[in-house]
Amino acid sequence: MTFKRIAVGGYLSTLFLILFCACGGNKSDEWTGVLLPVEEDSTDPHTYSQAEIAVITHMNLDLTVNFNAQKLEGSVTYQIKHDKASEIILDTRGLKIKQVTLGEQESETSFNVSAEDSIKGSSLTIPLAPLTRVVKIYYETTDKSAALQWLTPQQTADKIHPFLYTQGQPILTRTWIPTQDSPGIRFTYEATIRTLPGLMAVMSAENPRQKTADGVYAFKQTNPVPAYLIALASGDFQFAETGPRTGVYAEQSLLQAAATEFSDTDKMLNVAEKMYGTYNWGRYDLLVLPPSFPFGGMENPCLTFATPTIIAGDKSLTTLVAHELAHSWSGNLVTNATWNDLWLNEGFTVYFERRIMEEVYGADFTEMLNLLTYNNLKTLITKMGKDHPDTRLKVDLEGRNPDDGLTRIPYDKGFLFIEISGAIGRAKNI
Ligand SMILES: [Zn+2]
Repeated sequence: MTFKRIAVGGYLSTLFLILFCACGGNKSDEWTGVLLPVEEDSTDPHTYSQAEIAVITHMNLDLTVNFNAQKLEGSVTYQIKHDKASEIILDTRGLKIKQVTLGEQESETSFNVSAEDSIKGSSLTIPLAPLTRVVKIYYETTDKSAALQWLTPQQTADKIHPFLYTQGQPILTRTWIPTQDSPGIRFTYEATIRTLPGLMAVMSAENPRQKTADGVYAFKQTNPVPAYLIALASGDFQFAETGPRTGVYAEQSLLQAAATEFSDTDKMLNVAEKMYGTYNWGRYDLLVLPPSFPFGGMENPCLTFATPTIIAGDKSLTTLVAHELAHSWSGNLVTNATWNDLWLNEGFTVYFERRIMEEVYGADFTEMLNLLTYNNLKTLITKMGKDHPDTRLKVDLEGRNPDDGLTRIPYDKGFLFIEISGAIGRAKNI
């Protein structure tokens, strides 16, 4: 996300990052490549899931978008993996769970929704038989489903049709899908979304480029993704290409300006691939959201969600595109296991973003960005107090909402740590 977060993690357990780091003590002038255990105990304090006991491997979502009632209704079916576990635990918050079934035959089962924690929401515990591999949940969202942003026509650019978009990061996907909502748990997904005829629907997946007559759309995400990267939007928007693998979705009145503003996206994708390896997600498109989108951008796989305020007319704010594109490697392929380590997602992403900007717009522009980053960071740390625990790269979010106290620290301090580490390493020819 622009001005937001991270996840590095292998699957569920110990995570390692190869970092170059300066040793302390009397060897402080030595610079060696070391393997740092980032999180020996990567237990996520923000999930009820016990993925080591039973874990989701694939999701099939089937939802109807009800603009009148401002709710989503339908079902989610999971393929799960376990070794004779007696139950699977999911995260939910603000959802109305109607029915749960087991197996392809959809045998109805009991389930338990715990009392609601104000941060984590409720656990949904579903009993399993030893051979159960499929779990299906019928549910609907409520007005407490905080991931869902329902906009009236008046709140859109074209002011004719309503608009819906979701924001899952960091722990909001559980408010529109009952799921194992932890950045260390990844699964592939398919979805069928039924919206109003005449409207488009898109997700963080392979997307349509034309509207369908009946408002029904099918989606597939073949890379395993953490729940926070599942995203949906529906509204009256259209698609325009900006290159062979890139394009933009926007409301009619914004489409041309958006396509012009983002015309360097294909170039960014090509230079990013040269530096970091093959782009793993097929297409890279942008969705321009109505102005109420509270962030600059969100790195939803295949489809970055972006605020229209970056359409400046002179590409001066396309750093945001470089940032969200960079997340296609750092964050979306490799993710922090818990939100305590957000700096891994965002620090590396700002670093990648600057490398992309340097290739496309030159070293001078990037130096200016770096200087601004350094000055802003100094100001921020002075304001927070240099001993404030949230000025650390690794923070302690146990018992806190990961959104509370979110600052530029994980982005800018994380970036400068990597940038300076790299510069020292190069100077010492490591
Ligand atoms: Zn980001």
